[in-house]
Amino acid sequence: MKQIVFISGKGGTGKTTVVATISQLAGIRLIADCDVDAPNLDLLMQAKTETTRDYSGSQIAIIDGEACVACDMCRQFCRFDAISADPVYHVDPLSCEGCGVCRLVCPAGAVTLRTQITGQVMLSQTEHGSFAHARLLPGADGSGKLVTEVRKLIFDQMTDESYVLIDGSPGIGCPVIASITGTDAVVILTEPTVSGRHDMQRILEVAGHFRVPAFVCINKSDLNAELCQAIHADCQTAGVEVLAEIPFDPAVVSALQQGLSPYGADLHSFIDPVTDLWQKLTRQLRKGTFV
Ligand code: SF4
Ligand code: SF4
Repeated sequence: MKQIVFISGKGGTGKTTVVATISQLAGIRLIADCDVDAPNLDLLMQAKTETTRDYSGSQIAIIDGEACVACDMCRQFCRFDAISADPVYHVDPLSCEGCGVCRLVCPAGAVTLRTQITGQVMLSQTEHGSFAHARLLPGADGSGKLVTEVRKLIFDQMTDESYVLIDGSPGIGCPVIASITGTDAVVILTEPTVSGRHDMQRILEVAGHFRVPAFVCINKSDLNAELCQAIHADCQTAGVEVLAEIPFDPAVVSALQQGLSPYGADLHSFIDPVTDLWQKLTRQLRKGTFV
């Protein structure tokens, strides 16, 4: 069983579309959407949710006004300026990081930590198989932990399946690291733009740090020939294979607006390079020899 994660430096680079297309053309039975801040793979997969459970990913301090002796210790020790004495000692729930220092220093035992629900984790079924996904509540922290929950959930569904596709979080922060850790390959979706090139270089560094073999796919590759060449040159220098170039096709945008993946809309300008990507990637994974 191989876990493959698709990552991009920012949202809208096409990784979700690529994951949906591969899952449909290759009949992949295990999929995880780890973009918990802005999940949308479920729409393209036309997933039917079977189970939903709350996820408690953080804690918040609560001050008992009856027990508080107004010593000010908690306010002085809180590094997040989450405690105010006006009009009585209380915690700002939006600033509290749940570190528990206030509870440690309180001489009156007036502080407790309350577990908070920060999101939901769902298991759904698609035409081909199981699909794990989640949604972080607006303003909630802990997206990295929620990503780990999604990966655990899809891991629980594994039998002898050959591949698990993971739609990773965009960026290079905690949820991305949680998406990458322990996978067998990272496919970086990039675009021929200055920021796309820069983001790709940063994700390559993260993948290198975690010793996960990395590959690149250039989406909308015909938007800027010069930058596309520069990305190829960067990958060559880094010893990273560019698996595919996908040209821009406005028909893909139209299909997505109608809730159809390029596979569902039979758009070969997208399907053919993604098929090529998948064949090259699986060949490399079978060989187990990476640069
Ligand atoms: S738990 Fe930590 S962040 Fe929250 S109020 Fe207490 S000291 Fe401040
Ligand atoms: S440390 Fe405890 S007693 Fe002192 S102000 Fe804070 S809550 Fe009140």
